[in-house]
Amino acid sequence: MKNLSQAEEIDEIRTLVRKSGLRSTSARITVIQFLRQATSPLTHAEIAEDLTPLGFDKATVYRNLIDLADAGLVKRTELGDHAWRFELRNPDEPEDAQHPHFVCTECGSVSCLHDVDLKPSQNKQWSQVGTVTEILLKGICHECEDN
Ligand SMILES: [Zn+2]
Ligand SMILES: [Zn+2]
Repeated sequence: MKNLSQAEEIDEIRTLVRKSGLRSTSARITVIQFLRQATSPLTHAEIAEDLTPLGFDKATVYRNLIDLADAGLVKRTELGDHAWRFELRNPDEPEDAQHPHFVCTECGSVSCLHDVDLKPSQNKQWSQVGTVTEILLKGICHECEDN
């Protein structure tokens, strides 16, 4: 991660949002800034909890998450519990590349496995079964293992 000043970071995000074809509003910039420091995909409720104190209501946060997802800046993930989770799409990652997610079956915590990049288009068997939209690994996280 580059070390940017606050103003530089906002500038960079603004450019990113404009390049995607969206207007760069303060809500969109704030949502992206928030997702940038997140280490795992977050639900709308989790994101709204942190952003409502900054003056953005839940509906605004939701609408902007969907806009950013439609524009390809944010990735929407469903990990089997019927909740959408949102995370930033890595602009350096090819369109169809995906990193798997690990979900703890005990506490439900979600982790990104960024060092594994899988391309559905390069895997013949995947395309035979259908379109892969999510790669999911399940298990027990270390915190739950220790208890
Ligand atoms: Zn756990
Ligand atoms: Zn992820």
